[in-house]
Amino acid sequence: MPLDFLTLMTVMAANLFMISAALPLIMGRDVSRAARHVQASMLLQAVAWAAIIASSTLWDQALSTVSIACNAAAQWMLYRALEEWLGPRPLRRVLLVLVIAAPLGYTLGFGHYAWRVGWANFLMATILCIVARATLAPVVEANLRWRSLLMGCLLTSAAFTLARGMLGAFTDQYPSFRTPHPVNLAAAVATNVSLVLGTVALLVAWRSEAEHKLRTLAMTDGLTGVLNRRGFTTQGSSLLAHAARHQLPMTAMMLDLDHFKQVNDTHGHEAGDRALQLFARLLGDTCRSGDLVGRLGGEEFGVLLLHNSAPAGLALDRRLRRRLHAASVAELGFALDYSAGMAVLQPGEAGLAELMARADGALYAAKTAGRGRLVAAD
Ligand code: GH3
Ligand code: MG
Ligand code: MG
Repeated sequence: MPLDFLTLMTVMAANLFMISAALPLIMGRDVSRAARHVQASMLLQAVAWAAIIASSTLWDQALSTVSIACNAAAQWMLYRALEEWLGPRPLRRVLLVLVIAAPLGYTLGFGHYAWRVGWANFLMATILCIVARATLAPVVEANLRWRSLLMGCLLTSAAFTLARGMLGAFTDQYPSFRTPHPVNLAAAVATNVSLVLGTVALLVAWRSEAEHKLRTLAMTDGLTGVLNRRGFTTQGSSLLAHAARHQLPMTAMMLDLDHFKQVNDTHGHEAGDRALQLFARLLGDTCRSGDLVGRLGGEEFGVLLLHNSAPAGLALDRRLRRRLHAASVAELGFALDYSAGMAVLQPGEAGLAELMARADGALYAAKTAGRGRLVAAD
Protein backbone atom coordinates (compact mmCIF):
# COMPACT_ATOMS: atom_id res chain seq x y z
CA MET A 1 0.00 0.00 0.00
CA PRO A 2 1.64 3.28 -1.06
CA LEU A 3 1.61 5.95 1.66
CA ASP A 4 1.35 9.46 0.31
CA PHE A 5 2.75 12.18 2.56
CA LEU A 6 0.35 14.93 1.54
CA THR A 7 -2.65 12.62 2.06
CA LEU A 8 -1.42 11.62 5.51
CA MET A 9 -0.96 15.25 6.52
CA THR A 10 -4.38 16.22 5.15
CA VAL A 11 -6.01 13.42 7.16
CA MET A 12 -4.10 14.61 10.20
CA ALA A 13 -5.29 18.22 9.79
CA ALA A 14 -8.87 17.01 9.26
CA ASN A 15 -8.65 14.87 12.42
CA LEU A 16 -7.29 17.81 14.39
CA PHE A 17 -10.19 20.01 13.27
CA MET A 18 -12.67 17.28 14.23
CA ILE A 19 -11.06 16.83 17.66
CA SER A 20 -11.09 20.61 18.15
CA ALA A 21 -14.80 20.65 17.39
CA ALA A 22 -15.56 17.55 19.48
CA LEU A 23 -13.63 18.51 22.64
CA PRO A 24 -15.86 21.45 23.66
CA LEU A 25 -18.91 19.26 22.98
CA ILE A 26 -17.80 16.32 25.15
CA MET A 27 -16.19 18.45 27.86
CA GLY A 28 -19.19 20.77 28.19
CA ARG A 29 -19.31 24.50 28.85
CA ASP A 30 -18.13 24.74 32.41
CA VAL A 31 -14.61 23.35 32.12
CA SER A 32 -11.39 24.07 33.96
CA ARG A 33 -8.74 26.44 32.69
CA ALA A 34 -6.48 23.50 31.83
CA ALA A 35 -9.20 21.97 29.64
CA ARG A 36 -9.65 25.28 27.81
CA HIS A 37 -5.89 25.47 27.19
CA VAL A 38 -5.98 21.95 25.72
CA GLN A 39 -8.88 22.90 23.44
CA ALA A 40 -6.98 25.99 22.25
CA SER A 41 -3.86 23.89 21.71
CA MET A 42 -5.71 21.41 19.50
CA LEU A 43 -7.31 24.17 17.43
CA LEU A 44 -3.97 25.93 16.96
CA GLN A 45 -2.39 22.67 15.81
CA ALA A 46 -5.22 22.13 13.33
CA VAL A 47 -4.71 25.63 11.89
CA ALA A 48 -0.94 25.05 11.81
CA TRP A 49 -1.22 21.89 9.71
CA ALA A 50 -3.86 23.35 7.41
CA ALA A 51 -1.66 26.40 6.84
CA ILE A 52 1.47 24.39 6.06
CA ILE A 53 -0.44 22.21 3.57
CA ALA A 54 -1.96 25.27 1.92
CA SER A 55 1.41 27.05 1.81
CA SER A 56 2.73 24.56 -0.75
CA THR A 57 0.40 26.07 -3.35
CA LEU A 58 -0.40 29.56 -2.00
CA TRP A 59 1.33 32.52 -0.24
CA ASP A 60 4.27 30.40 0.79
CA GLN A 61 6.00 32.76 3.26
CA ALA A 62 2.88 34.09 4.97
CA LEU A 63 1.15 30.75 5.43
CA SER A 64 4.22 28.79 6.53
CA THR A 65 5.04 31.55 9.06
CA VAL A 66 1.45 31.38 10.36
CA SER A 67 1.87 27.62 10.58
CA ILE A 68 5.02 27.83 12.70
CA ALA A 69 3.50 30.53 14.91
CA CYS A 70 0.38 28.40 15.51
CA ASN A 71 2.40 25.25 16.13
CA ALA A 72 4.60 27.02 18.69
CA ALA A 73 1.57 28.66 20.32
CA ALA A 74 -0.14 25.25 20.51
CA GLN A 75 2.79 23.90 22.53
CA TRP A 76 2.68 26.99 24.76
CA MET A 77 -1.01 26.30 25.51
CA LEU A 78 -0.20 22.67 26.26
CA TYR A 79 2.55 23.79 28.64
CA ARG A 80 0.05 26.06 30.41
CA ALA A 81 -2.39 23.18 30.76
CA LEU A 82 0.43 21.17 32.38
CA GLU A 83 1.07 24.08 34.75
CA GLU A 84 -2.57 23.92 35.83
CA TRP A 85 -2.45 20.16 36.31
CA LEU A 86 1.03 19.68 37.79
CA GLY A 87 1.97 23.02 39.43
CA PRO A 88 4.76 25.42 38.36
CA ARG A 89 6.82 23.94 35.49
CA PRO A 90 10.50 24.57 34.70
CA LEU A 91 11.90 26.69 31.82
CA ARG A 92 8.79 28.85 31.41
CA ARG A 93 10.66 31.97 30.24
CA VAL A 94 12.92 30.04 27.88
CA LEU A 95 9.86 28.43 26.34
CA LEU A 96 8.10 31.77 25.86
CA VAL A 97 11.17 33.25 24.14
CA LEU A 98 11.44 30.23 21.81
CA VAL A 99 7.71 30.36 20.98
CA ILE A 100 8.12 33.98 19.84
CA ALA A 101 11.53 33.50 18.21
CA ALA A 102 10.55 30.48 16.09
CA PRO A 103 8.17 32.19 13.64
CA LEU A 104 10.06 35.50 13.85
CA GLY A 105 13.45 34.05 12.86
CA TYR A 106 11.80 31.92 10.22
CA THR A 107 10.12 34.80 8.45
CA LEU A 108 13.11 37.17 8.77
CA GLY A 109 15.43 34.57 7.28
CA PHE A 110 12.94 33.29 4.75
CA GLY A 111 15.21 34.09 1.81
CA HIS A 112 17.85 31.63 3.04
CA TYR A 113 16.50 28.12 2.65
CA ALA A 114 18.86 26.15 4.95
CA TRP A 115 18.60 28.83 7.64
CA ARG A 116 14.82 29.01 7.77
CA VAL A 117 14.34 25.22 7.70
CA GLY A 118 17.05 24.62 10.30
CA TRP A 119 15.89 27.47 12.56
CA ALA A 120 12.20 26.53 12.59
CA ASN A 121 12.78 22.80 13.09
CA PHE A 122 15.51 23.14 15.73
CA LEU A 123 13.46 25.60 17.76
CA MET A 124 10.29 23.52 17.42
CA ALA A 125 12.19 20.40 18.53
CA THR A 126 13.52 22.29 21.58
CA ILE A 127 10.02 23.59 22.36
CA LEU A 128 8.64 20.03 22.20
CA CYS A 129 11.42 18.80 24.52
CA ILE A 130 10.66 21.54 27.07
CA VAL A 131 6.95 20.63 27.05
CA ALA A 132 7.91 16.93 27.32
CA ARG A 133 10.13 17.83 30.31
CA ALA A 134 7.15 19.62 31.86
CA THR A 135 5.32 16.29 32.20
CA LEU A 136 7.93 15.18 34.78
CA ALA A 137 8.21 15.90 38.52
CA PRO A 138 4.69 17.11 39.35
CA VAL A 139 4.37 19.41 42.36
CA VAL A 140 0.94 18.00 43.13
CA GLU A 141 -0.06 14.35 43.07
CA ALA A 142 -0.59 13.24 39.44
CA ASN A 143 -0.95 9.95 37.60
CA LEU A 144 2.28 8.73 35.97
CA ARG A 145 0.61 6.87 33.10
CA TRP A 146 -0.92 9.74 31.18
CA ARG A 147 2.20 11.83 31.77
CA SER A 148 4.44 9.08 30.32
CA LEU A 149 2.16 8.66 27.31
CA LEU A 150 2.11 12.39 26.61
CA MET A 151 5.87 12.64 27.07
CA GLY A 152 6.40 9.76 24.63
CA CYS A 153 4.25 11.49 22.00
CA LEU A 154 6.06 14.81 22.44
CA LEU A 155 9.54 13.26 22.29
CA THR A 156 8.62 11.30 19.14
CA SER A 157 7.47 14.51 17.47
CA ALA A 158 10.65 16.26 18.69
CA ALA A 159 12.86 13.52 17.19
CA PHE A 160 11.25 13.77 13.74
CA THR A 161 11.26 17.56 13.81
CA LEU A 162 14.96 17.48 14.64
CA ALA A 163 15.63 14.99 11.82
CA ARG A 164 13.89 17.27 9.31
CA GLY A 165 15.86 20.23 10.65
CA MET A 166 19.17 18.36 10.22
CA LEU A 167 18.32 17.36 6.65
CA GLY A 168 17.25 20.91 5.80
CA ALA A 169 20.12 22.76 7.44
CA PHE A 170 23.07 20.51 6.61
CA THR A 171 22.14 18.49 3.50
CA ASP A 172 20.49 19.23 0.19
CA GLN A 173 17.77 16.62 0.64
CA TYR A 174 15.27 18.43 2.83
CA PRO A 175 11.99 16.55 2.44
CA SER A 176 9.47 19.10 1.21
CA PHE A 177 5.77 18.33 0.86
CA ARG A 178 6.26 17.08 -2.65
CA THR A 179 9.12 14.64 -1.94
CA PRO A 180 8.30 11.12 -0.75
CA HIS A 181 11.39 11.08 1.48
CA PRO A 182 11.41 8.19 4.04
CA VAL A 183 11.87 10.67 6.91
CA ASN A 184 8.78 12.51 5.72
CA LEU A 185 6.64 9.38 5.57
CA ALA A 186 7.85 8.12 8.94
CA ALA A 187 7.20 11.58 10.42
CA ALA A 188 3.68 11.67 9.00
CA VAL A 189 2.82 8.24 10.38
CA ALA A 190 4.39 9.02 13.78
CA THR A 191 2.60 12.38 13.99
CA ASN A 192 -0.74 10.73 13.26
CA VAL A 193 -0.15 8.09 15.94
CA SER A 194 1.06 10.76 18.40
CA LEU A 195 -2.10 12.76 17.78
CA VAL A 196 -4.33 9.79 18.67
CA LEU A 197 -2.34 8.74 21.75
CA GLY A 198 -1.69 12.34 22.86
CA THR A 199 -5.43 13.07 22.74
CA VAL A 200 -6.12 9.99 24.87
CA ALA A 201 -3.46 11.12 27.38
CA LEU A 202 -5.00 14.60 27.60
CA LEU A 203 -8.50 13.21 28.12
CA VAL A 204 -7.23 10.99 30.93
CA ALA A 205 -5.45 14.01 32.45
CA TRP A 206 -8.71 15.95 32.33
CA ARG A 207 -10.56 13.09 34.03
CA SER A 208 -7.84 12.87 36.73
CA GLU A 209 -8.29 16.58 37.35
CA ALA A 210 -12.02 16.09 37.95
CA GLU A 211 -11.33 13.15 40.29
CA HIS A 212 -8.78 15.21 42.21
CA LYS A 213 -11.34 18.02 42.62
CA LEU A 214 -13.94 15.60 43.97
CA ARG A 215 -11.43 14.07 46.40
CA THR A 216 -10.48 17.55 47.64
CA LEU A 217 -14.14 18.50 47.99
CA ALA A 218 -14.83 15.35 50.03
CA MET A 219 -12.09 16.41 52.45
CA THR A 220 -13.05 20.08 52.80
CA ASP A 221 -15.49 21.67 55.21
CA GLY A 222 -18.07 23.57 53.21
CA LEU A 223 -18.62 26.40 55.70
CA THR A 224 -15.05 27.32 56.63
CA GLY A 225 -12.96 25.94 53.76
CA VAL A 226 -10.52 24.15 56.11
CA LEU A 227 -10.17 20.35 56.13
CA ASN A 228 -13.11 18.39 57.51
CA ARG A 229 -12.66 15.53 59.98
CA ARG A 230 -12.02 13.01 57.23
CA GLY A 231 -9.41 15.25 55.53
CA PHE A 232 -7.74 16.08 58.82
CA THR A 233 -7.53 12.42 59.80
CA THR A 234 -6.22 11.31 56.39
CA GLN A 235 -3.59 14.02 55.99
CA GLY A 236 -2.78 14.12 59.71
CA SER A 237 -2.06 10.38 59.80
CA SER A 238 0.50 10.60 57.01
CA LEU A 239 2.12 13.70 58.58
CA LEU A 240 2.36 11.88 61.89
CA ALA A 241 3.86 8.79 60.26
CA HIS A 242 6.44 11.04 58.57
CA ALA A 243 7.26 12.78 61.88
CA ALA A 244 7.56 9.47 63.75
CA ARG A 245 9.78 7.93 61.04
CA HIS A 246 12.20 10.86 61.05
CA GLN A 247 11.90 11.49 64.80
CA LEU A 248 10.64 15.04 64.20
CA PRO A 249 8.69 16.88 66.89
CA MET A 250 4.97 17.42 66.37
CA THR A 251 2.28 19.05 68.47
CA ALA A 252 -1.47 18.56 68.33
CA MET A 253 -4.06 21.06 69.54
CA MET A 254 -7.81 20.80 70.00
CA LEU A 255 -9.71 24.09 70.14
CA ASP A 256 -13.35 24.56 71.05
CA LEU A 257 -15.26 27.86 71.05
CA ASP A 258 -16.61 28.77 74.47
CA HIS A 259 -20.36 29.07 75.09
CA PHE A 260 -21.02 28.83 71.39
CA LYS A 261 -24.59 27.72 71.92
CA GLN A 262 -25.18 31.10 73.55
CA VAL A 263 -23.70 32.86 70.52
CA ASN A 264 -26.31 31.15 68.35
CA ASP A 265 -29.08 31.81 70.83
CA THR A 266 -28.21 35.50 71.32
CA HIS A 267 -27.05 36.59 67.85
CA GLY A 268 -28.64 34.00 65.57
CA HIS A 269 -27.36 31.01 63.65
CA GLU A 270 -26.01 33.14 60.81
CA ALA A 271 -23.83 35.13 63.18
CA GLY A 272 -22.70 31.77 64.55
CA ASP A 273 -21.70 30.68 61.06
CA ARG A 274 -19.75 33.89 60.51
CA ALA A 275 -18.03 33.38 63.85
CA LEU A 276 -16.95 29.89 62.75
CA GLN A 277 -15.63 31.28 59.46
CA LEU A 278 -13.73 34.02 61.26
CA PHE A 279 -12.20 31.56 63.71
CA ALA A 280 -11.11 29.18 60.93
CA ARG A 281 -9.59 32.08 58.94
CA LEU A 282 -7.61 33.40 61.92
CA LEU A 283 -6.49 29.89 62.81
CA GLY A 284 -5.20 29.35 59.25
CA ASP A 285 -3.45 32.75 59.24
CA THR A 286 -1.81 32.12 62.60
CA CYS A 287 -0.42 28.69 61.65
CA ARG A 288 2.61 28.14 59.44
CA SER A 289 2.21 26.92 55.87
CA GLY A 290 2.98 23.23 56.51
CA ASP A 291 0.69 22.99 59.57
CA LEU A 292 -2.65 21.23 59.35
CA VAL A 293 -5.95 22.84 60.34
CA GLY A 294 -9.29 21.03 60.38
CA ARG A 295 -12.85 21.47 61.61
CA LEU A 296 -13.46 18.28 63.52
CA GLY A 297 -17.04 18.95 64.60
CA GLY A 298 -19.53 21.79 65.12
CA GLU A 299 -17.34 24.42 66.85
CA GLU A 300 -14.35 22.22 67.46
CA PHE A 301 -11.10 22.54 65.51
CA GLY A 302 -7.88 20.51 65.37
CA VAL A 303 -4.36 21.69 64.56
CA LEU A 304 -1.17 19.75 63.89
CA LEU A 305 1.98 21.82 64.26
CA LEU A 306 4.71 20.33 62.13
CA HIS A 307 8.33 20.21 63.38
CA ASN A 308 7.26 21.95 66.59
CA SER A 309 6.84 21.17 70.24
CA ALA A 310 5.11 22.85 73.23
CA PRO A 311 6.61 26.39 72.95
CA ALA A 312 5.22 26.77 69.43
CA GLY A 313 1.79 25.69 70.67
CA LEU A 314 1.91 28.26 73.46
CA ALA A 315 2.98 30.99 71.03
CA LEU A 316 0.24 30.09 68.58
CA ASP A 317 -2.35 30.19 71.34
CA ARG A 318 -1.18 33.64 72.49
CA ARG A 319 -1.27 35.12 68.99
CA LEU A 320 -4.60 33.54 68.12
CA ARG A 321 -6.28 34.67 71.34
CA ARG A 322 -5.15 38.28 70.80
CA ARG A 323 -6.22 38.32 67.15
CA LEU A 324 -9.53 36.62 67.83
CA HIS A 325 -10.50 39.10 70.52
CA ALA A 326 -9.76 42.11 68.31
CA ALA A 327 -11.27 40.67 65.13
CA SER A 328 -14.46 39.23 66.68
CA VAL A 329 -15.35 42.54 68.32
CA ALA A 330 -14.59 44.43 65.10
CA GLU A 331 -16.21 42.06 62.61
CA LEU A 332 -18.99 40.34 64.58
CA GLY A 333 -19.82 42.92 67.23
CA PHE A 334 -19.19 40.59 70.17
CA ALA A 335 -16.14 38.93 71.76
CA LEU A 336 -15.39 35.31 70.97
CA ASP A 337 -13.20 33.09 73.11
CA TYR A 338 -12.09 29.50 73.06
CA SER A 339 -10.52 26.77 75.17
CA ALA A 340 -7.67 24.62 73.93
CA GLY A 341 -5.82 21.44 74.78
CA MET A 342 -2.33 20.62 73.57
CA ALA A 343 -0.35 17.37 73.39
CA VAL A 344 3.22 16.87 72.16
CA LEU A 345 3.95 13.69 70.19
CA GLN A 346 5.70 11.16 72.44
CA PRO A 347 8.33 8.71 71.22
CA GLY A 348 6.59 5.47 70.31
CA GLU A 349 3.09 7.04 70.24
CA ALA A 350 0.97 4.73 68.12
CA GLY A 351 -1.17 7.03 65.98
CA LEU A 352 -3.10 10.22 65.41
CA ALA A 353 -6.11 9.01 67.39
CA GLU A 354 -4.01 8.60 70.58
CA LEU A 355 -2.34 11.99 70.14
CA MET A 356 -5.65 13.77 69.52
CA ALA A 357 -7.27 11.95 72.46
CA ARG A 358 -4.59 13.37 74.78
CA ALA A 359 -5.14 16.85 73.34
CA ASP A 360 -8.90 16.36 73.81
CA GLY A 361 -8.34 15.37 77.45
CA ALA A 362 -6.38 18.58 77.95
CA LEU A 363 -9.19 20.56 76.25
CA TYR A 364 -11.67 19.03 78.70
CA ALA A 365 -9.40 20.13 81.55
CA ALA A 366 -9.31 23.66 80.11
CA LYS A 367 -13.12 23.73 80.01
CA THR A 368 -13.52 22.51 83.58
CA ALA A 369 -10.84 24.93 84.80
CA GLY A 370 -13.01 27.84 83.66
CA ARG A 371 -12.58 28.08 79.81
CA GLY A 372 -10.69 30.76 77.83
CA ARG A 373 -7.31 29.06 78.32
CA LEU A 374 -4.83 26.52 76.99
CA VAL A 375 -3.95 23.41 78.96
CA ALA A 376 -1.07 21.11 78.02
CA ALA A 377 -1.48 17.34 78.45
CA ASP A 378 0.75 15.85 81.18
P1 GH3 B 1 -18.67 24.99 75.76
O1 GH3 B 1 -18.12 26.30 76.23
O2 GH3 B 1 -18.76 24.02 76.86
O3 GH3 B 1 -17.97 24.46 74.59
O4 GH3 B 1 -20.19 25.30 75.36
P2 GH3 B 1 -20.78 25.38 73.91
O5 GH3 B 1 -22.07 26.08 73.98
O6 GH3 B 1 -19.77 25.99 73.00
O7 GH3 B 1 -20.90 23.86 73.49
P3 GH3 B 1 -22.13 22.98 73.09
O8 GH3 B 1 -21.54 21.67 72.67
O9 GH3 B 1 -23.15 22.95 74.20
O10 GH3 B 1 -22.77 23.70 71.86
C1 GH3 B 1 -22.16 23.77 70.64
C2 GH3 B 1 -23.05 24.57 69.73
O11 GH3 B 1 -22.46 24.74 68.45
C3 GH3 B 1 -24.37 23.91 69.49
C4 GH3 B 1 -24.60 24.01 68.01
O12 GH3 B 1 -25.84 24.56 67.71
C5 GH3 B 1 -23.51 24.92 67.54
N1 GH3 B 1 -23.08 24.61 66.19
C6 GH3 B 1 -22.54 23.45 65.75
N2 GH3 B 1 -22.29 23.53 64.44
C7 GH3 B 1 -22.69 24.75 64.03
C8 GH3 B 1 -22.70 25.44 62.77
O13 GH3 B 1 -22.28 24.92 61.74
N3 GH3 B 1 -23.17 26.70 62.75
C9 GH3 B 1 -23.65 27.31 63.86
N4 GH3 B 1 -24.11 28.54 63.76
N5 GH3 B 1 -23.66 26.68 65.04
C10 GH3 B 1 -23.20 25.43 65.14
MG1 MG C 1 -17.95 24.91 72.62
MG1 MG D 1 -17.89 21.50 71.33
